[in-house]
Amino acid sequence: MQKEDCIFCKIARKEIPSKQVYEDEDVIAFKDINPAAPVHLLIIPKQHYDSLATMGETEIPLLGKMLALAPVLAKEAGATNGFRVVINTGHDSGQEVNHIHVHVLGGARPWKKL
Ligand code: 5GP
Ligand code: ZN
Repeated sequence: MQKEDCIFCKIARKEIPSKQVYEDEDVIAFKDINPAAPVHLLIIPKQHYDSLATMGETEIPLLGKMLALAPVLAKEAGATNGFRVVINTGHDSGQEVNHIHVHVLGGARPWKKL
């Protein structure tokens, strides 16, 4: 199911343009509009889920697909020296877009080491 007024559902429906780097029947990946690193991609499911917190065992194949895509797309985008995967989840994480997305960040390491 998609959500009418969700910005990432609109990107998945191509109602809002994006710099797309990957698409299949389940997911789409595109460049973040406000990159926090030289390589900054977002991988999202076409189906709407508010966040990782609303996903469960049923979504294991979908979550696995998104995670497995991260190294492939990072490499294609030129992050050949490593990358970070981030899934902000819920208010306290700073999640701003309430459609689950996997950030793939690479090409430099400007962030605090966790
Ligand atoms: P969050 O803080 O929710 O984890 O991350 C949301 C991300 O989506 C931010 O990095 C922001 O720059 C990105 N973003 C928000 N709106 C758009 C948009 O319309 N297009 C693209 N490509 N990225 C977006
Ligand atoms: Zn959505």
